[in-house]
Amino acid sequence: MSLYLKYRPKDFSSLVWQEFIKETLKKTISEDKSVWAYIFCWPRWTGKTSSARIFSMALNCLNNHDWNPCLECDNCKSFLAWKMTDVIEIDAASHTGVDNIREEIIEKAVFQPNIAKYKIYIIDETHMLSKWAFNALLKILEEPPAHVKFILATTEVNKVPETILSRCQRYDFSKITKNDIKSRLDFIAKEEWVEADPEAIDYIVKNSDWWLRNAISLFEQFIIWWKISFDFIKSNLWLVSSDKIEEIINKILNKDRKIIHEIKEIQDSGVNMKLFFKDILFNLRDNLIADFSLWNEKTSNLKLLNLLWEAFVKSKNSFDEILPFFIAIITFISGDSLIEEKIITKKEIWWEIKKTDTKEVIKKEKIETEIKENKQENVDLDDAFSIFWDEEIIISEEKSKLENTNTTNFNIELLFAELKKEWWKAFLNLAIKSSETFIKDDKLHIKAKTKFNFDKINTIDNITLLNQKLIDLWFNYQVKIEM
Ligand SMILES: [Zn+2]
Repeated sequence: MSLYLKYRPKDFSSLVWQEFIKETLKKTISEDKSVWAYIFCWPRWTGKTSSARIFSMALNCLNNHDWNPCLECDNCKSFLAWKMTDVIEIDAASHTGVDNIREEIIEKAVFQPNIAKYKIYIIDETHMLSKWAFNALLKILEEPPAHVKFILATTEVNKVPETILSRCQRYDFSKITKNDIKSRLDFIAKEEWVEADPEAIDYIVKNSDWWLRNAISLFEQFIIWWKISFDFIKSNLWLVSSDKIEEIINKILNKDRKIIHEIKEIQDSGVNMKLFFKDILFNLRDNLIADFSLWNEKTSNLKLLNLLWEAFVKSKNSFDEILPFFIAIITFISGDSLIEEKIITKKEIWWEIKKTDTKEVIKKEKIETEIKENKQENVDLDDAFSIFWDEEIIISEEKSKLENTNTTNFNIELLFAELKKEWWKAFLNLAIKSSETFIKDDKLHIKAKTKFNFDKINTIDNITLLNQKLIDLWFNYQVKIEM
């Protein structure tokens, strides 16, 4: 028998979670409140069948000390032996669901229970019932025989008609918490005489997606020689240690491009890559959830988490399960180049200012207007200024260096050589070569011989480029295009 079935809770005291609901249910029995129907609403695998069965057992228990099923009386015993004919379980999701409703409820509900106090119908996945079945159910809920009780269970309460809901006492179950799963695993370990180290339990809980059923079956897989150790899990699944995972995450967040090679090496060493990326995902998720107050500082964590999550979904349909994760990480890291592009735009604005206002110190207002005119609304001003000022310092340092080394002599060939590097500007190079060029008032005058050449040279793009090259080479020259 699997551990999950073996440790399926049998009474309220072994149902270790949903404390509030448990206590309320016990109270309804103790006060003998005449409610005919209950509806249990829950996310999947929150102990639904267990709770419904325990509750029906408690309702029929002959001893009922503390309103917990005694597990010893005739009714409890026959229930545990699957011989209790007065508790009828119907799965609305199955094809027989409709027939069962007709046969069991409509035709048989009126008869007295065989041995127990109540005839109890547990209807699982109630929301799957047909319209016809709901109507039949409603009919009986309007005038229920005193010996009948209904426990309706559903994972999608919004699909259950309001008319049904209004006749039921509703219980909303919550998902089992991480700590509840942990303590349940600890309990099972103790019962099974298994020694389990806390790091191993932590790892299992994390990888169960917080579902008790998953946690218990994972736990079961790792019981070897009555021992569960994280080292064993690690070597068996080819896992990467949690310290290493954190180190890798930090490198990705810091956009360290070398991380791609490092991950490739990890892959080549035989690590289980799906679990590796799952570990990264869980780590990011826990990190984000752990401290909401640092939310703003963690937007890049969220971005990475999102990309990896998408990769996780894509990898299920991918011919190469791991490729989407690599793509996600590369996308995250090279997202940076988008920011670099923005800086280039800001630089261009700066060059435009320089062009018209060479020797003046750039005023804050001027940049502001320029940015507005260039419709760079998304540019963070402070950010932009800091770049401009930094640039200013670098340029003036460069300038003094150049002045000191006396390399300020203009040489048009140097400019041509420099322009050659921009191969897509080959025509500009040719057009300048066929024009007259001379230096006057710290300006490089380019006098085009034809209108065609003048138009080709005289574009904002070209002027920006030429000014940039002139600054790079000699600093103190500006370009002036004429005809
Ligand atoms: Zn009993």
